[in-house]
Amino acid sequence: MSTQSKGELVDLLGIGFGPSNLALAIAVHEHNGSGEAPLRAAFHERQPRFGWHRDMLIDDSTMQISYLKDLVTLRNPTSSFSFVAYLHEKGRLIDFINHQVIYPSRVEFHDYLEWSAARFADQVEYGSEVTAIHPVLTDDRVTALDVHAVSEDGVTVRRARNVVLATGLSACLPDGVERGDRIWHSGELLGRVAGLGDARPKRLAVVGAGQSAAEVTEYLHRTFTDAEVYSVFSRYGYSAADDSPFANRIFDPAAVDEFFTSDTDVRQMLLDYHAGTNYAVVDRDLINELYRRSYHERVTGRRRLRFLNVSRPRRVTPTADGVRLDIEHLPTRTTTALDVDYVVFATGYRPSRPDRLLDALEPWLRRAEHDELVVGRDYRVLTDGRMSAGVYVQGATEHLHGISSSLLSTSCVRAGEIAESVVEAVRRTEPMATGSVPRGSGQPRQVLGS
Ligand SMILES: Cc1cc2nc3c(=O)[nH]c(=O)nc-3n(C[C@H](O)[C@H](O)[C@H](O)COP(=O)(O)OP(=O)(O)OC[C@H]3O[C@@H](n4cnc5c(N)ncnc54)[C@H](O)[C@@H]3O)c2cc1C
Repeated sequence: MSTQSKGELVDLLGIGFGPSNLALAIAVHEHNGSGEAPLRAAFHERQPRFGWHRDMLIDDSTMQISYLKDLVTLRNPTSSFSFVAYLHEKGRLIDFINHQVIYPSRVEFHDYLEWSAARFADQVEYGSEVTAIHPVLTDDRVTALDVHAVSEDGVTVRRARNVVLATGLSACLPDGVERGDRIWHSGELLGRVAGLGDARPKRLAVVGAGQSAAEVTEYLHRTFTDAEVYSVFSRYGYSAADDSPFANRIFDPAAVDEFFTSDTDVRQMLLDYHAGTNYAVVDRDLINELYRRSYHERVTGRRRLRFLNVSRPRRVTPTADGVRLDIEHLPTRTTTALDVDYVVFATGYRPSRPDRLLDALEPWLRRAEHDELVVGRDYRVLTDGRMSAGVYVQGATEHLHGISSSLLSTSCVRAGEIAESVVEAVRRTEPMATGSVPRGSGQPRQVLGS
């Protein structure tokens, strides 16, 4: 493969171009339009085109945030990138108002994200996966970073003063379970179903009890009208998501400040108290719909939707024409074999660990207890004084910035804070180029330990 250096030094290089770095691109764009010294920004995205959890864009699935928590409104309500501006441009504003919803469909929100992303087509390199970040030394200081990315054209290296990692989530499967033609993760649902062509499975299983699990169960039951669908989970029943107004304040921008300044035990307490707003919970309407269908089938006697509660698949074995699940019923400790054509593990995600791209920077990184990166309130990774190049992280800091870290709720505010921090950092390191007087002490701004 060929390696080539690409373009000029940029002030900010975003790794990943999902909603988090898209919100950042908008914040930078709006900063650049403000008359202040502009930032040069570019982004790498490994997908061939913009896409937000495309294979879970199930018809009728809705957002779990208000449309006002879009890419900009909480930061800049007058932005031309708002969901309302999108509706206006698409000629649907009045129809949306008449629709009387605050949670738009995921399909519509995806269209909004694509509409916004299209305005940055010249800044994003799609089909380009970042594989490593190397220090650039001036004397003994790390003053820039070389970002290596692989695409079908070979390896490119781009130099940046600051990088922002927003690499999203990685699928979780139970230990020992490997994805395969008949063993899927929920994140690949629609692509896998499309791949079946005209084949009509007769028996399907879904493992998990969160929002994705309930959505996949509903979708498979509705789509394969002759198939039996088994939903397997260790809870007694699905738990309803807490979207009540007081609890919802845990997603407010102000909650990030309070969370960040709290002691570790208080942070953990808050995460435990409010897990029910986000983790392993399901929208109440969807729970009711699944119950309604199940009850209706009992009335008609044609039962094909089944719930195996308080149960766990203990063994998952591919067979010649399907998958065998050995399912343990936990109260009785009895195990029963269930043969299915396909099984979907809706067993969640974990944030992608940013560390894997930072190996070459290790000598300069500060580490906290349990070897975690130390990340400041401004999402900048704390490094020692010999490194002026910045590394920022979006999405993997729930233990420091709270439950909204990996979600969309505050992404526009977070993007604004990162853009501001990068502007300050560039001013400090390049006073002549921007023509402004350096501010601050030369130490990283607002970098607090965990
Ligand atoms: C089905 C589903 C529905 C959801 N619905 C909601 C919701 O309604 N409300 C909410 O607040 N949250 C929701 N979430 C949570 C979700 O984390 C956020 O919506 C959102 O995806 C976070 O944006 P992000 O940009 O940080 O991460 P992502 O959207 O995951 O984007 C990260 C991007 O980085 C790219 N990437 C990764 N590694 C590299 C690399 N090395 N080089 C180049 N590119 C790379 C990926 O291809 C991806 O495009 C949902 C999650 C799922 C799975």
